[in-house]
Amino acid sequence: MEIWDLYDEQGNKTGETWERSRAKEIPEGRYHIVCDILIRHQDGAFLLTLRDPHKDIYPGCWEASAGGSALAGETPEECARREMLEETGLKAEKPELISVNYRPQSHSVIYAWLSVVNCQKDAVRLQEGETVDYRWMAPDAFLSLISEEPILKIQYPRYKPYLDRLKENCCMDNAKYMKRCYELAIQAGKKGYDTFGALLVHNGEILEEAENTADWNKGLFGHAEFNLVHKCANRYSDSVLKESVLYTSCAPCERCLCAIASLGVENVVFGVSYEEFSKLTPNDAVSVDREGLLQKLGVRMKLSGPVLEDEGMHVFEWWGGEYRPLKELIAEMAEVRAKAGN
Ligand SMILES: [Zn+2]
Repeated sequence: MEIWDLYDEQGNKTGETWERSRAKEIPEGRYHIVCDILIRHQDGAFLLTLRDPHKDIYPGCWEASAGGSALAGETPEECARREMLEETGLKAEKPELISVNYRPQSHSVIYAWLSVVNCQKDAVRLQEGETVDYRWMAPDAFLSLISEEPILKIQYPRYKPYLDRLKENCCMDNAKYMKRCYELAIQAGKKGYDTFGALLVHNGEILEEAENTADWNKGLFGHAEFNLVHKCANRYSDSVLKESVLYTSCAPCERCLCAIASLGVENVVFGVSYEEFSKLTPNDAVSVDREGLLQKLGVRMKLSGPVLEDEGMHVFEWWGGEYRPLKELIAEMAEVRAKAGN
């Protein structure tokens, strides 16, 4: 029999207790404590667990928390520590309180915690009948998933004060890495190549960088993303690649997408979009649901962007080594397109 302490609307313990089996009959103005713990590794990745497909509520959904109700005599923090250990096998180091929310409809007051852990990534223990799988996810990917997955959407408001700060940092990081891609692209241009650059980031560290080295005369493909994949292949483990983000100055072509997919990288952030880039090509951008297509093939890939797109377009001014203003390049291509249309 699970017994809870009851609290009033100000969060004071009333001295009353309640049986879990009668949760629906908690009197008006009384609450019991529930804890939700968001678990993050010291290297930045978030822990997600997959709910058992036989559960009544949200079967087979990814969730980003351990949690449950506080037992009589337990403080919210003690509850958080116990639940986290029971559900994941991980010890909460110093849980940090993110928010406290009252839910009158369920007579619960939810304490949302953040726990940063410094354990082996495979130290997670699944709980029979509760969870069947887990994964660590890069912050960027986690932030986009949390507004998509049904159960994460519910958890989102509780973690929001913390995730908003994280979002800001991610935006700043995206801009920082994209600027570096643009530098690489211009570098390639100044060497006489097409102006594209790409790099791979794992938890705040740039693992590899690559420039475009395509040579039409020699029939060499040489796209920056392809060169980057080549550098990383057989060098980094699948788990590192899965948690990494590939940044590229321009949305990747289909051949590069396949190369990135085969490398096992699931997160791509691009600077210039397909649509904007097509202003510099004779044809319109092909409007295809690339993520959806890959998903049908069982490949998980998230394409995010554009990032600093205006700046990214100016990178093409260095295309092939000879500087030409963007306006001129676009006007020239518009002419080519018009002629082709005639
Ligand atoms: Zn390509």
